[in-house]
Parts: sequence; structure tokens; C-alpha cells
Amino acid sequence: MEKHHKFSIWYVLLGVWVVLILQNYLASVVAVKTIPYSEFLRLLKEQKITEVAISENLIQGRMTDGGATARNGILFRTVRVDPEISRLLEQYNVSFKGRMESTFLRQLFSWVFPIFLFFGIWYLMFKRIAGKQPGFMALGKKKARIYRQDELNVTFEDVAGVDEAKQELVEVIDFLKEPARFTELGGKMPKGILLVGPPGTGKTLLAKAVAGESAVPFFSLSGSEFVEMFVGLGAARVRDLFEQAKKEAPCIIFIDELDALGKARGLGGVAGGHDEREQTLNQLLVEMDGFDPKIGVILMAATNRPEILDPALLRPGRFDRQVLVDRPDKKGREEILKIHLKNVKTIKNLDLEKLANMTPGMVGADLANLVNEAALLAVRRGKKKVGMPEFEEAIERVMAGLEKKNRLINPKEREIVAYHELGHAIVALSLPGTEPVQKISIIPRGIAALGYTMQVPTEDRYLMSKTELLNKIATLLGGRASEEIIFSDVSTGAHNDLARATDIARSMVREYGMSQKVGQVYFAREKRSPFLDVGFEGKGEYSEATAEMIDTEVREILKEQYQRALTILKEKSPVLEKGAALLLEKEKIEGDELKGLMEQTTPKLA
Ligand code: ADP
Ligand code: MG
Ligand code: ZN
Repeated sequence: MEKHHKFSIWYVLLGVWVVLILQNYLASVVAVKTIPYSEFLRLLKEQKITEVAISENLIQGRMTDGGATARNGILFRTVRVDPEISRLLEQYNVSFKGRMESTFLRQLFSWVFPIFLFFGIWYLMFKRIAGKQPGFMALGKKKARIYRQDELNVTFEDVAGVDEAKQELVEVIDFLKEPARFTELGGKMPKGILLVGPPGTGKTLLAKAVAGESAVPFFSLSGSEFVEMFVGLGAARVRDLFEQAKKEAPCIIFIDELDALGKARGLGGVAGGHDEREQTLNQLLVEMDGFDPKIGVILMAATNRPEILDPALLRPGRFDRQVLVDRPDKKGREEILKIHLKNVKTIKNLDLEKLANMTPGMVGADLANLVNEAALLAVRRGKKKVGMPEFEEAIERVMAGLEKKNRLINPKEREIVAYHELGHAIVALSLPGTEPVQKISIIPRGIAALGYTMQVPTEDRYLMSKTELLNKIATLLGGRASEEIIFSDVSTGAHNDLARATDIARSMVREYGMSQKVGQVYFAREKRSPFLDVGFEGKGEYSEATAEMIDTEVREILKEQYQRALTILKEKSPVLEKGAALLLEKEKIEGDELKGLMEQTTPKLA
């Protein structure tokens, strides 16, 4: 609408200009002979003037002079010299009339046109400045720049390898399709859904796919866009965004890169300059609290740094549902490759599984990039179809880029991680009273964790028995034990496990009175003064001898449990081997799968 309006101003301007030019041209075509006043007087005396119009400075009229082609004579024009011309005209019996000097056109030329021109140039310049600095124009218009994409052609089919996230979002789609029916049945929608996951895993894509699947409008804004240079604009934009969205319900509001806007207040270092962001964030919180999801507006956001978000954003009634968009496993990578290869001409029997095998740790964006690189290489080599050599080289290139970002691990490390994680899992499965193993993965998550074993408690626990605590320690030490059995060497990968195991053991001895030697005593936790090097508080509550005893006891517990883990793992080494092979191949296995494997391999114990 608005854009059209701007254009029509230009049309009017152009029209006026054309008319003026045309008039000027026509005037010059209809020949008007300019004659000196003396000649006019002569012609008058010779009675060759037929009619005259007199204005202040000018005499215009017709005359009949030699070679007159015009029907009523030639038009002439002369400058008026004699003010008493009327008497003369009367004398020679020429019909005459007075005329107001028509200066309108000339004025238009000398005034209006330059003004138009000036405004035109000014407008163009303004637009260029605005183009360079987003939001500049918005200041004048007071309207948020919102991208409305009614016709998104992204569906779930364009997103692969994130099946769990998709499953969680199906409900949202159902709701958006028929919000009224959904609420009638008593369904309650979350207000905000936060997509969490590493960069390039398809969060933005997934949000668009939800909109595409449910065929509703999609208001998309990036968190960094809110943080404007003009104070107050960000907050105004949030208000505007919600206002517009409410009119369009059912619809989706999507805030990409929420962390740029939703960083914890008071965080962010340099004093000043962040008021704007805080104001915007506050406005967002106000708007979130102020709307009822029943009207069919779903707020979605994405971030790859959930840990720095302001806790207020995650409170119930705000972004209370988090959907993990994780790195794809091997199967997932294969599917993602399939999607991106749809429009690429490849050789007939391209081994996608092999490609997926060669790309551990890559996310969707990396894979899209990979396909693109391979296609470019094929073009450069003058090939008609993309083949394995191109893909192999493209993988090397993309990998090299990723290695710099510290996101990939080498094959040897992968193997160590696989055995380590299986160590945890097998010990956990072999001991009663440990939390069930849900899944085991060697897909790296960030720099710190190379793999993980996910254990989910089946119920909330407030009390734990000594046996359970000991089992937990054994499980934590299982990772390292497994490394020792297989590689006769241990790695640094277990330091977090060790810290947690030690923590539990120390608590058992000092707080829970679970050590026979130390007895049923409670010793406060040692607090270290931040300013002094020595243990300060707490240390005085027990003697050096007790401290030594505690240390020995803790060490004893850890040693015993480590031995236990070793025994279990040695006994189940066939499971360990088979499981590791499976994990290395699939990168992620479910707890049940491993359980099945254990029952199969060691029927005696089942
Ligand atoms: P994020 O928002 O998580 O950083 P994007 O959604 O922007 O990632 O992904 C960037 C691009 O990478 C997408 O446009 C798409 O081409 C590709 N991509 C990422 N993840 C996937 C996926 N799961 N399936 C298919 N393509 C993907
Ligand atoms: Mg994104
Ligand atoms: Zn571990």
C-alpha cells in the first residue's frame, strides 16, 4: 500500500512536467511573429491589423500581411510602448480587448517546478541514507518493519534430522490450524516456544516450517533488529508487532536470535548504552504477559545461547516450553543431504550413507554449504554431474573451516568418547537403583562435552540410600574404567565425572554420616575465603586428623567403586565392544537398544 502511494507522487510530478514541456512546445509551433512596435504602428496605419488583445506590457493580435497562410491572418506579438494605444485602435477601427497578463504558467515554471525537483532529490537522498541504516525511515513512519510472509513455502519436509523437535511442534500446528476447536477441547497452549540449539541446526527453518504447515501469517524479527540506535524505538516496535499480530490471529510471531535482545539484565559489561535493550526487553515481557494465547497468537523464538537469557523470559507464562534442536545424527545427516541434493544433478548411485559417515559433527547449514561447494567444484571442473570426488573435496574444505571453530573431533577421539560413554551406560544398566539410561550419544555438543549419556530419573527423589549413592559413583567412574580396559590408558575426558563422583563421596562422608570410620557426624562444608589462599572457615571445626581421615575415606570410596565399575565392564566386555561399534556407526543409540544388546549378549544374567 504505502509503496504504491510513494510511486503515485512521482507519476503526478512526471505528468506536470510533461504537460509543461508540451505546452511550451506547442506555443512555439503555432508561430507567433514578434514584430517591432514601429512596424505594428505602420501595419495599423495600413489597416492590416484585424484584431488585438492588449495586456499590460504586450500587444498580441492578428494581422493580414503578405503570404498569410492562416485563415484569419498571422498571429503577431509586440511590446507595448504607447500607453494610449486604445485611441489609435479606435481610430483605425480595429476590434480590441484588454487582457490580464497570464503569468500562471511562467510562475509554475519558475517556482513550483524547482520545488518539486528539490523535494524529489531530497527524498531520494533520504531514502538512500535510510537504506544504509535500517530503522531510520521507521522513525518517521513510526511503524515497525515487519516481514509478513503469508506465502512461506517451507514445510516440515524441508527440515530433516530433528524429528524430536518436529514431534513437539506438531501440537502447535494443530492449534494454529483450529485455535477455537483446540481450546474448546480444553487444550492449553503454551504462550512461548523457545527453540534451543547450536547455530545452523535449522531453528529458523523450523519456525518457518511451522508457519508453512499451519498456513498462518508469520511475523519475523531478529533480536538484533530490536536493538536500535534511537532510544525508545525498540519498545515501540515490540508494541507495534504485537498489535499487528493480534489483528492477524491466528499467526506466529518469531523472534530470531532472542539472546541479542533478551540477555540477562545487568549483564553485558560496559555501563550505559544498554538501557535501550532493557527497555525493549521489558516491553516484550509486558506484551507477553498481556496477551491470551487463546486468540491464536503463538510466540516463537530461537537462540543458541539459552544460558545467557534473562531468567524472567523463561518463567511460566512466557517462554515456558523449550524445544531442543540438536545436531543431526548420521541418519539425520543423510536425510538433510537428500533435501539439499534435490535440485542438484548428481551421478546416479551417489552413496549418501557414505557421505553422512564422512561428515560427523556437521549441522544442516554445514551440509547445505557442502552440497553447494561440491556443485561449484563440478562446474569448475566442467562436469555435467556432481560425483564423489567433488563431494570428498568439498567435505575437506568445509571440515577445515569447522576444525578452526573447534567443532569436530578426530576419529581416534571419537572412539575414546564412544567407549567412555558406553562405560557409563553399561555400569548404570547393570546396577539396580540407578536412573534409567535414555540415550547415549557421541555427537559433540559445544566444546566442553564430547559425548553424553542421558539418564532421566523416573520420579522425583528426595531421599537416596547409601547403596544408590555408591551406584551413582560407580556409574560416573564407569567412563574412565572403560577407557582403561580398552585402551590401557585414560584421557582427560573424565574430569567432570571425577569432580561429581568426588563431590558425592565427600558429602557421604562429611554430611550424611555414611562412613563407618568417620562415623555419624556432620561436618560443615569447607568454605574457602576468596581473599586468602588457605582454607579459612570450616576448617577449624575438625582436627587435622579428622581431615585426613575424611580424605582417606573419600579416596577409599572412590577406589572401591572404580574397581566395581571395572569388574562390571570386564564381565560385559562383549556388550562394550558391540555397543561401541554400534555407537560409532550410528552416533546415537537409545537406552532400550543397549538394554536389548545386553540381554542378548549375556543371557546368563538376564
Ligand atoms: P539456525 O537458525 O538454527 O542457525 P537456520 O535455520 O538458519 O539455522 O539454517 C540455515 C540453513 O541451513 C537453512 O536455510 C537450511 O538450508 C540449512 N539447514 C539447517 N538445518 C537444516 C535441517 N535440519 N534440514 C534441512 N536443512 C537445514
Ligand atoms: Mg537462525
Ligand atoms: Zn563421562
